[in-house]
Amino acid sequence: MIDKLGRDITYLRISLTDKCNLRCRYCMPEEGVCKRAHHEMMNEDELVTAVEAAASLGIHKIRLTGGEPLVKRNILSICRRVAAVEGIREVCLTTNGILLPQLARQLRQAGVSRLNLSLDTLDPQKYAYITRIGKLEDFRAGLQAALEAGFEKVKLNAVLIGGFNDDEIEALANLTMEYPVDMRFIELMPIQDHDEFGPDAYVPYSRVLEKLPAAVPVPKDGGVAKLYRLPGAKGNIGLISPISAHFCSECNRLRLTADGKLKPCLHAPDEYSIKGLDYEGIRAVFEQAILNKPAWHGDLDALHRSQAGRNMNEIGG
Ligand code: SAM
Repeated sequence: MIDKLGRDITYLRISLTDKCNLRCRYCMPEEGVCKRAHHEMMNEDELVTAVEAAASLGIHKIRLTGGEPLVKRNILSICRRVAAVEGIREVCLTTNGILLPQLARQLRQAGVSRLNLSLDTLDPQKYAYITRIGKLEDFRAGLQAALEAGFEKVKLNAVLIGGFNDDEIEALANLTMEYPVDMRFIELMPIQDHDEFGPDAYVPYSRVLEKLPAAVPVPKDGGVAKLYRLPGAKGNIGLISPISAHFCSECNRLRLTADGKLKPCLHAPDEYSIKGLDYEGIRAVFEQAILNKPAWHGDLDALHRSQAGRNMNEIGG
C-alpha cells in the first residue's frame, strides 16, 4: 500500500513481548515490565492472522523483535508460521543474542533469514553496566552460534552514547575486519520518560566517520542505514541517524506491539488496535494506519522527547 506521501509500506516490525532477559538502560526500566493479563496480549493465531492481512496489503518483510523475542516459548512456531505466509519474502529477527546458543540453528530452520544482534560495548564491565544484568561472554557465545547457523546476514547494532561508548567506535567497527558482519551505529533516541543520559549522550552519526577516516561510502542495501566499509573488511559499517538526519521520507514500516497496537510511526502517540479483530477487521485497520502515517517523527533531542508514549521495549526496536 502506498501512503499519502507516496511511501510504499512493505515492512512490518512485530514486538512479540515487552519482556526481556536484559534491562538496557536506554530501553526499559530496571524493574522490568508490569505483568499483563495473558488475554490482553496477541496470541500466536492472532499474530499469524495479522501477518496474513498485512501481506495481502503488500507487506513482504517481517522483523520479529521485542522486548526479547527469544524469551517467547513458542518463538520457533511463530517464525515457522510467519515465514510460511503467502507474500512474506523475508523474516528477520532482532535479539540481544543471549539465547542464541540454544536457538540459532532452529531459528534458521524455522525460516529466519537475517539476524540483528545488539552490542553496545566490548568491555565486560560496561556491558554489565548498560544491560544492568548481562554478561558479555554470553553475548559472544550467541554471536558465535549465529555465525555458525548459516544466516544470510548477521548485523550488530550499537546505540551510540556519548561518554559511554564513543571511545569504542574503532574497536566496534573493527569487528567487521574479524567477522562477516555489518556493524551499525544507531543514534540514541530520547524515548524513555526518565533516563539517566544527559545532553552529551546524544552523539551524531558524523562522530563515527570522524573516528573512521579510512571508511569509504558503499551503496545502500535497501535499508535506512548509510553504509561505509573499512578497507579489507568482511562487512559494512552502518550509520542510522533518526536524530541528526531523519529518514522519515523513506520510512516504509509499521510496528505492531505485543498487545496488538499498530503504530504507523515509532515516535508518534497514534495507535490502532487490532486485538480481537478478524482478518477483514485487521486489514481495514492496517489500511487506516497506513493512510494516517505521519510525515515525520517531529523534533527529537535531549529537550524534545519522543511522543511514543511507551518505552522502546514496549514498541519493538
Ligand atoms: N531485545 C532485542 C535486542 O536487544 O536487540 C530486541 C529489542 S531492542 C528494543 C531492539 C533495538 O532497539 C536494539 O538494537 C536496541 O539497542 C534499540 N534501542 C532500544 N532503545 C533505544 C533508544 N532509546 N535509542 C536507540 N535505539 C534503541
